[in-house]
Formats: sequence, structure tokens, C-alpha cells
Amino acid sequence: MESNMTNDIHLGTERTDILHPYGVSSESDGCLSAGVPSTTCLSSCVPTGLAQNPVGVQDIKQADSSPAFTTPSTDTSWIIAGPCSVESEAQILATAQALAQIPEVTMLRGGIWKPRTRPDAFEGRGEQGLVWLREAKQATGLPVITEVATPEHVELAMKYGVDALWVGARTVVNPFSVQQLADALRGTDVPVFIKNPVAPDLNLWVGAFERFYKSGLTRLAAIHRGFAHYKESPYRNAPMWEIPIELTRRLDVPVITDVSHICGNRELLQATAQKALDLACDGLMIECHINPDEALTDAQQQITPDALRTMLSALTFRAKQAGGVERDLAGLRGEIDDIDAELLQLLARRMEVSARIGEYKKLNNVAVVQMDRWKHVLEELLAVGQDMGLSPILINKVFEAVHQESIERQTRIMGDD
Ligand code: PEP
Ligand code: MN
Repeated sequence: MESNMTNDIHLGTERTDILHPYGVSSESDGCLSAGVPSTTCLSSCVPTGLAQNPVGVQDIKQADSSPAFTTPSTDTSWIIAGPCSVESEAQILATAQALAQIPEVTMLRGGIWKPRTRPDAFEGRGEQGLVWLREAKQATGLPVITEVATPEHVELAMKYGVDALWVGARTVVNPFSVQQLADALRGTDVPVFIKNPVAPDLNLWVGAFERFYKSGLTRLAAIHRGFAHYKESPYRNAPMWEIPIELTRRLDVPVITDVSHICGNRELLQATAQKALDLACDGLMIECHINPDEALTDAQQQITPDALRTMLSALTFRAKQAGGVERDLAGLRGEIDDIDAELLQLLARRMEVSARIGEYKKLNNVAVVQMDRWKHVLEELLAVGQDMGLSPILINKVFEAVHQESIERQTRIMGDD
């Protein structure tokens, strides 16, 4: 049996030696002794300010002239916006200046080292990009965040005054890399935002939090950016909402939803952002570019700062404390949504195959309805379905409807010239 559960930063009901990402003891948080489900703990136990404010930003005003973070008020969320990649001085400055005009925007993102799936693509500007990112920070007063994947990245990001770091989905899958980053950051308390790993492996995500926490980093937040999948899907990365929700049941960390990498296109952004807010996320990450169509990376999913302003004004931000039943059910509802989406994909695939059979029947002059075959298929489905605990009524209804649709499609094919 796997035993790493015992090391989780975990809000269970029975343990008293809980590691807590904000260093809050199990005695003082009150939730454990009260036996309150830990989903409720997320909003009620985190010290005020930190629940709304993933990185305890008021404490990390930097000693030099760099701009201080501003803390979003309790009824607003973190909005991290900026280009997928820092491409040029003009691009990052223009994007940052436009974003700074949007009051909801709390942080400027910009990728300096880009993890690309295939070789020979644009891999980021490296150190030069950090110079421009620092200029954008100074020009706008926005705190800046970038992705680090190696200890060298960490060192350079610190050198150029980057305020917070995120660890990318491709890095979080590798515990060696995560440990190297955690070691490189030991002794600092830089805010670290940890993206979910590309694979839907919750323990791997939790493990990354544990590694940073054990290195003494206490200002940790999660970024939900969806999960790689093989099947066709409207999303670039399947959201699997139940996974970040389960994360917040196990860890007391805020979750920022990276709608850009979940959607992979502009069309789905608005609805996905609203869904994330409805599920009580603590903020959004949205890729913005002054000229998205010309972006060197992720052009299809980036939006202009103007489009971001419009999008934000159309969103309904939910009260975070309302959680309770809604939040508990959100995981299961997310699972239902994912299953329904899969059912649709399966139905569409079945109809495609059925159409191919229709073409064959037409070519070979075979009748559409083959009653013996259908009776046999339905008998099999009823037997197998009943073993799975499904009622004959359901099986009959669903498969009669599916069969009927197939017949109609094949009949249309027969009639086509
Ligand atoms: C990014 O944020 O641009 C990025 C590369 O993200 P991810 O690690 O989620 O793919
Ligand atoms: Mn990107």
C-alpha cells in the first residue's frame, strides 16, 4: 500500500501533526477539533489576507525601489495577465502599460524560458527578456511573475527582481527538477505558484508542494492549467475540475485558474473563467498580448488587454466564503460534466462509424435495418449493463434512441445521390 499520504500537507480530521503551507498549527485553526470538512477549512482557516492573497504579498514589499504588491480586497480575485512569452522590449512594455490600466489586474506574467513541445520553436529571450520584464515592472508598478525550470533560472530571476515564480506543468511532472528548484530557493520566501503536472496525477502535484514547503517556502499557491489528453476535446488541456478541488481538500492553498492553457483558444475563455469563479477559484491567469495574432507562442489563445477588460467586466465574481455545499458538490459536478463531454464524444464517434456502415450498405445494396443483428446487440447490452447495475429501462431507452439515430443517418445516406 502506498504510504506517502502520511506526508501530505493535509487537512484531515484525525491528524494533529499537520504540515501547513502557511505555518498555521492544527490547534489554532480550529477546524480539526470541530471536525469541519476540510473544504470549509480552506476559506475559514487560512489567516485573513492570505486566503484572498495567495502570496502574503503585503509582507514582501521589497527593500529597493521596486513597486510593492497591492493586495486585492476580499471580494476580488487575483488576476495574473501578460504574454505567454516576453518577446521584445516594445511588446512587453506596451502590453504591461495597457494591462496596468485595468484595475482588476494584480500581476504581470511573462515567460522568459519557454518549454516547447517540439524543437526549433521560439524558446524565449532568456536573460535579455528579464531586463525588459524589469523595465515593465518599473514602468507600471505591477509585480511580475515568470516561469523557472532550473536553478539557473531561479538565480537569474532573483537577480532581476522578479517578484514571484511559477513552476510549469512540464517541470512539476519531474520530482528531480522540482527538488532542484526547492533547493535553489531554500532560505528565501519567494512566492511560488505551482502548476498542475501535465498528467492528472494529484499526488505528484501535492508532492511538489511538499518539496517547496520542506525547503522553507511558505507562500505557495496552485495554478490549475488543465491536463494533457489524447482524445479529441474542445479544450487544449482537459480541465478535470475535480482534481484542483481535491487538491484544496488536501492542502490549504489558493488556486488560480489558468484559463488560457486550459482552453487553447479565445472562444472558450469567457465561459471557462466564469466556471472557475463559480467553483470558487482564487484568481485567474490569462495570457494577454498587445498583438495576439503576431505572438511567437500560443497565438491562438492570447487576447488583447482590451479584450481582457471586456471579459473581466462580463464575469461574475463570487463571494469566496459562500463555499459550503456548492464547493463540496463542485468536484462531483465537475466529474459529471467531464463524463457527459466524453459521452458526447463517444456518441459522435459511434455515429461516424454507423455512417461508414451506411456507405457500405448503399454500395452493396443491403437494407438499412438488420433486425436480427439489432436484437442480438440489444440482448448483449442488457445482460452486460445489468451486471454493471444499470436498469433495463435505461439501457432500452438509451440504445433505442442511439439505434434510431443510426437508422435515420443510414437512411439519409441511402437516399443521397
Ligand atoms: C505558460 O504558462 O506559458 C506555460 C508554458 O504553461 P504550462 O506549464 O501550463 O504549459
Ligand atoms: Mn503559453
